[in-house]
Amino acid sequence: MREGSLEAPIRHPLDWKSADFYDEAKLDAEMRRVFDICHTCRRCFNLCDSFPRLFDLVDESKSGELDTVASADFKSVVDACTLCDMCFMTKCPYVPPHEFNIDFPHLILRYRAVEAKKKGVSFADRELAETDRNGKWATLIAGAANWATRRGSPLRGIEEKIAGLDENAQLPKYASRTLEVEAAAAPPARNEAGPAKGRKAVLYATCYGDYNDTSIGMAALAVLAKNGVETKVVNPHCCGMPKLEQGLIDEVAEAARKVAEAFAPYINDGYDIVAPVPSCALMLKFEWPLILPEDESVKRLAKSTFDLSEYVVDIARKEGLAEGMAPIDGGVAFHVSCHSRAQNIGQKGAELLALIPQADVTVVERCSGHGGAWGYKKGNFETAMKVGKPAARQIQGAGKKHVVSECPLAGLHIEQEIETLGGEAPEPQLVGHPIVLMARAYGVTGV
Ligand code: SF4
Ligand code: SF4
Repeated sequence: MREGSLEAPIRHPLDWKSADFYDEAKLDAEMRRVFDICHTCRRCFNLCDSFPRLFDLVDESKSGELDTVASADFKSVVDACTLCDMCFMTKCPYVPPHEFNIDFPHLILRYRAVEAKKKGVSFADRELAETDRNGKWATLIAGAANWATRRGSPLRGIEEKIAGLDENAQLPKYASRTLEVEAAAAPPARNEAGPAKGRKAVLYATCYGDYNDTSIGMAALAVLAKNGVETKVVNPHCCGMPKLEQGLIDEVAEAARKVAEAFAPYINDGYDIVAPVPSCALMLKFEWPLILPEDESVKRLAKSTFDLSEYVVDIARKEGLAEGMAPIDGGVAFHVSCHSRAQNIGQKGAELLALIPQADVTVVERCSGHGGAWGYKKGNFETAMKVGKPAARQIQGAGKKHVVSECPLAGLHIEQEIETLGGEAPEPQLVGHPIVLMARAYGVTGV
């Protein structure tokens, strides 16, 4: 059951292979139908910048109704959407099975798919969405890549002009070794008598976990090993979320087929698939089956996939966690990311943190404002900072030693938000994922 309704929502498969999906007149009619319902409802006024832009367009139009808003102006509403899914998951009473059949994020996705087909995607956006290829190269030259992309680097002005990356945005650093290399060099010793010794898991490294912050994967491997889970690290391909944001649905489908094919032998062999980044877990569990509803491998993969926090909490519930955790001092402000909420699994990151002895956790549910690569971009960064300010204020006000979000990019953005708020209190230390704190509680060093 979802957060905002007593009735379980249904999400219809995306009809992206039909000619009607790309018919501009039909798309415009659907935008007007949905936007008119939203204008009358207005519940989502404070979720993001898309809805305020829509309502301003209507309020400032000649008739004060949607009929005098030009269709060309809808683009500004589309451009502000990060596809966070929060309107669908938490606010809208009109999602299917309601007869109004509102799926605002998928309507935005359709608009972007039509635009991508008609005009193509810019060179810079296309290149940025190649996270697998970029990560492979950048880890080979991590020192130079991190110097070139750090805030204040003399190259950031050029990067803003060429790649559209706002020069003030904090960009993720690259690791000098991928998670796969690091895990192979120092595999954590498995406790063969651990409570979850019957489990086998594949950790889907993901682009961020493989190329940017390997501490998340190393912490996950250590915690799972302590609990007896036999775990392998596999990273067949990017989940395609950066391409979904561009409306490149056929390329996302291709990624889904590749990853499902790579994981099928593991699933046949009894492995669970565990994704540490919520956006990637969301893709495997929910978006891919809506894009390829007839593909049996994709459907099987969706059923076998767990979000990392969900998996550890599942072990705690069913087998109990291995003993040996010590308290973490200073408390934790935990940001619930949108794509964790969109998985409809409850606050599994907070539940994971509560398993650490004497955990002192403050949960913050406000949007970070970031929305994946969207928040880095020139033209979006200022909006991302504006939308994320309330979350940053709540986290700063909590006065905890650590701050953590399951979404690593949201975490980085929140860190930058807190820095700009200033104030007397020391800034909380950013941690890549709740699993890192659990690994530290188990005494694991270097994460
Ligand atoms: S998906 Fe998120 S960003 Fe997009 S309109 Fe809904 S709430 Fe706003
Ligand atoms: S998405 Fe649903 S809840 Fe949000 S403004 Fe539109 S109709 Fe209302």
